[in-house]
Amino acid sequence: MMPTRGALGGPRLLLRRLRELMAEPVNAQARLDRIVVQVASNMVAEVCSVYVLRADQRLELFATEGLKREAVHITTMRVDEGLVGLIAKTAEPLALTEAQAHPSFSYRPETGEEIYHSFLGVPILRGGNTLGVLVVQNRVKRAYSEEEVEVLETIAMLLAEMIASGELQSIVRPGADINLRRHVALKGSPINDGVGLGHAVMHEPRIVVTQIVAEDTTKELERLDASLQAMRANIDELLDNNGSAGESREVLEAFRVFANDRGWLRRLREAVSTGITAEAAVERVQNDARARLQRQTDPYMRERLHDLDDLANRLLHQLTGQSLVAAPESIPENAILVARSMGPAALLEYDRKKLRGLVLEDAGGASHVAIVARALGIPTVGDVDNVTNLLEQGDAIIVDGSSGEVHLRPQPNVEAAYREKARLRARRQEQYHRLRNVPAVTLDGVEINLMMNAGLMVDLQHLEEAGVRQIGLFRTELQFMMASRFPKLEQQQAFYRQVLEAAPGGVTFRTLDIGGDKILPYMATYEEENPALGWRAIRIGLDRPGLLRLQLRALLRAAEGRELRILFPMVTMVSEFDEAKAIVERELAHLRRHNHGAPDSLKLGVMMEVPSLLWQLDELLERVDFLSVGSNDLVQYLTAADRDNRRVANRFDVLSAPVLRALRHVAVKGQEAGKPVTLCGEIGGRPLEALTLVAIGYKALSMSATSIGPVKAALLAADAGEFADFTAKLLDGRDGAPSLRERLRAFADARGVPL
Ligand code: PEP
Ligand code: MG
Repeated sequence: MMPTRGALGGPRLLLRRLRELMAEPVNAQARLDRIVVQVASNMVAEVCSVYVLRADQRLELFATEGLKREAVHITTMRVDEGLVGLIAKTAEPLALTEAQAHPSFSYRPETGEEIYHSFLGVPILRGGNTLGVLVVQNRVKRAYSEEEVEVLETIAMLLAEMIASGELQSIVRPGADINLRRHVALKGSPINDGVGLGHAVMHEPRIVVTQIVAEDTTKELERLDASLQAMRANIDELLDNNGSAGESREVLEAFRVFANDRGWLRRLREAVSTGITAEAAVERVQNDARARLQRQTDPYMRERLHDLDDLANRLLHQLTGQSLVAAPESIPENAILVARSMGPAALLEYDRKKLRGLVLEDAGGASHVAIVARALGIPTVGDVDNVTNLLEQGDAIIVDGSSGEVHLRPQPNVEAAYREKARLRARRQEQYHRLRNVPAVTLDGVEINLMMNAGLMVDLQHLEEAGVRQIGLFRTELQFMMASRFPKLEQQQAFYRQVLEAAPGGVTFRTLDIGGDKILPYMATYEEENPALGWRAIRIGLDRPGLLRLQLRALLRAAEGRELRILFPMVTMVSEFDEAKAIVERELAHLRRHNHGAPDSLKLGVMMEVPSLLWQLDELLERVDFLSVGSNDLVQYLTAADRDNRRVANRFDVLSAPVLRALRHVAVKGQEAGKPVTLCGEIGGRPLEALTLVAIGYKALSMSATSIGPVKAALLAADAGEFADFTAKLLDGRDGAPSLRERLRAFADARGVPL
């Protein structure tokens, strides 16, 4: 016969009882023991047991009512073993009328469980990770109701809180650490060199729900409804205003669909009805969704999981009043910033002095946040899967920006090894430092001009440190991105003047390269299906000449009595250069008319970023004073692979025949026309790529400050002619290989070139 639960007070009474238990001043084991007794009696089950996942991936019995007490802290099983293991592995509840008939059933004599037939188990989850399993068992054959599954899931949330709070730490036996605190080693893509040791600061912290059991369910339902309404209004408002700086229209629209999804709303209400708070209900429904979706391999579905997570977080934010983003001004010393993804402007809001590292889940090396991280010299790793779910705020973390490794909660020996690595790196930096006044000349006497990329005031100090005199690319948009409104003429002028004064060898200023993901918070954004192919850079400059004119005026005035080099980004047609040049000339005439001083000499150049320019080189080279190859964008457009989309960004190797042939074509044409060609994309800062660029004819490279040392060390040890012959042979080959990297690397290795 089915036992009735109503007689024992139902789930709400149980939750109230458990809340009292959570507050009792007893030790962790006693609390767990009392919880299992309460659950068993309220659910009319003979058995209730708690298993906790250990760092060695075994599930250990931490408390039981009904099984043999002697088995507590003795019985363990692997995550692929038995029904409990199955629940841990799948992160899904399991309800069985006849447990012994299930193929995963495994009998443990020490627990005496063979007399039980029915079995209900739920995972103990936190942030999509399994921390343990909670089980009830019955002697009779019975079917557990959906409501009972939900009650057990709620209790599992309380247990997750206990585990996450560290309370169980006192009953952990030596060597049997709990999984939540275990060391996890992850691998991503290296973005900026350097080793950082510190504590995690979540850029968008998960909102922590501590109040799980409700005082008054009717009130909780009202709170839930009010928050849902507020959240929906907020999303509508964002959509009406064409989105915020952070979210695209597509994401907001997905939010709106989810926010009105009946299934979701029903699940939330049902969860509250079991006696938990509105925020606990959001968390529980989200835990389920996460567990279900996490096993999805379909990238589209995983993307939706992110959206749903964000939405749940928004709702929690409404309910708890906790902030959706970390307060950049209040981060601790030794912070390692961890973000799913972030824009360059958001990174600039943090105090650089406190940041020891940056870890990005959904952004790779060519993203703009990566460029800013490099400019700021922050050790950075990108493309780190699931990192935001595996971390708790404040966890110890190590970032190795050279190997792409990230260690969460490192053990002392791992930490010691990285401290040593940081020391060695400092020593290597010293060697580079010693090279700083040595010109970059190859073994066979080819001199390469190594310049620095910059965009922020903090970059300027690196000139001296790296022994560089010239800024080959100054990204002027960074100043605009940091400001809260358009910088005025005088502000721009003063800033450019300082930059010119810091770089005795000259500065190539690139005009505003905004659009795409480089958003100015104070400028209205236009929703575009394909921002990378949209209204950006010189296109904005020519359509809104007021903006460009103001910047050019500031540049011309700042460079009074010096050489001024101006570079136009994203030029697609030669005529765009003509138009831009006409604006410069008009500004120059205006200056003269008003008796302002002017630059001693003016050089105008174009960035080679859009492939259409490859077929206009003759007419282009006749007009410009110099060319600068922006390989980040050029490669993105050549390969039709979004540089910010991790699924495709690393799909094609730049060290491949099509890319290198295109780059060689530009270098050769430049030489023939007698016009200097520079390369200022990220590839110029990687030793093997830099060497290959020299081999195909580049004599000037501009890169981040930290790359100067390693690139120079490689060039000093290489024979450019020999490399040129080898590369030419590779590029003339027809083997259709997707990458020439290994062959180039082997060639360099065999000659002892440090890479
Ligand atoms: C490039 O595209 O290579 C470049 C240098 O410009 P940015 O990375 O700023 O787009
Ligand atoms: Mg570019």
